[in-house]
Amino acid sequence: MVQLSSDTFAFGGELMSIDTAIGLMVARIPPVAEVESVALAEAEGRILGAAVVAPIDLPVFDNSAVDGYAVAFADLLEGNETVLPIAGRVAAGEAAGTASRGWATRIFTGAPMPAGTDTVFMQEDVRLTEAGEVVLPRGLAKGANARPAGEDIARGTLAIAAGRRLEPRDVALLAALGLDRVSVRRRLRVSVFSTGNELREPGSALGEAAIYDSNRFALMALIRRLGCEVRDLGILRDDRRAIEAAIGEAAHSSDLVVTSGGVSTGDEDHVKAAISAAGSLVFWRLAIKPGRPVAMGLIGGTPLVGLPGNPVAVFITFAHVLRPLILALAGATPSPPMPALVTADFAHAKKAGRREYVRVTLERRGAGVIAVKYPVDGAGVLTSLTRTDGLVELPEALTRVEPGDTVAFYDYRHLA
Ligand code: AMP
Ligand code: MG
Repeated sequence: MVQLSSDTFAFGGELMSIDTAIGLMVARIPPVAEVESVALAEAEGRILGAAVVAPIDLPVFDNSAVDGYAVAFADLLEGNETVLPIAGRVAAGEAAGTASRGWATRIFTGAPMPAGTDTVFMQEDVRLTEAGEVVLPRGLAKGANARPAGEDIARGTLAIAAGRRLEPRDVALLAALGLDRVSVRRRLRVSVFSTGNELREPGSALGEAAIYDSNRFALMALIRRLGCEVRDLGILRDDRRAIEAAIGEAAHSSDLVVTSGGVSTGDEDHVKAAISAAGSLVFWRLAIKPGRPVAMGLIGGTPLVGLPGNPVAVFITFAHVLRPLILALAGATPSPPMPALVTADFAHAKKAGRREYVRVTLERRGAGVIAVKYPVDGAGVLTSLTRTDGLVELPEALTRVEPGDTVAFYDYRHLA
């Protein structure tokens, strides 16, 4: 289990910046250490446990990139076309043998280059004579259309570094290198709760003053997408002792506990007090909007993150606080999402000293892309997430955005 001593953090300020919070969490919390071997077909999304060094060259052998004629460059006339007789034919999957000097070999894409040849003319670029010779135009460079062994990656060199979250393109490289299993970090075990007396399970009767729990379903889906094993621990009542007991129990058997709701300062917000009672509170206010109340604590060495209750704030604090923490705990090398630079189509005033995220849709305008702010921006408006494309990030120092300003845009698909 991921363990952390409670004196790892020290923070006395009011609003902690997101970068400070993430820096603290990521630098100090050791990632899950255990590795396991998985079949290549199951490897996508897992975090590579050990560096992969290429066991073979890629390409495995010198081969042709086109259908055409393989020749020795030294046989070509300089500044003039060359006519060569043709001997032999080699297709993909066939052994190439050795070409005689002064002859061209008929060759197809992926076929090994006959020994003694180094250059391939595309069949579209040549003419055949009545006598069955091939007329090769001048001007082709030595080595053209040939793919030398090891050009892609040489045997013995680093193919993929440890800590990489494997993408389908990485899986392709591993397969090409002939690996059928890879070592990956074991999945992080994350327990997820909701808190709130008003919450009901989707599918049940609502009753008076009740709402359906949406945060837990959002969080379970988001966390599962990061490759974690998710434990659904249901809805907790707004009761300090009940929350304390539940998070204490969950912390015992998880690498991370995530809750939503109940972290503000209202009389019915008990998560903070429950964290302090069950373990220790590290911080609980971040300089982020929406989503300022985010509590982080340690319970017997297990981190707990208490996200706000409002569904939009949950999504945004997941994307910018919880996601980097989960990836770090899971053993992934940090690779923050890269924003796209787009043009704001809106004016917006904000307070200095906190980072703000604005929900926007993108539209093409001329050669550029503009970000249009969603008209309803309450932190509880779920359709403001489902009907937009992503978030514009307004940094701490900024106090105003004007139409025409260049802003950083994060697509939801890169945040979730
Ligand atoms: P809280 O921080 O607990 O006061 O919650 C803030 C707002 O978010 C309230 O309107 C809650 O009803 C709502 N909320 C809290 N948890 C959830 C949840 N799991 N699903 C949907 N809405 C929630
Ligand atoms: Mg509540």
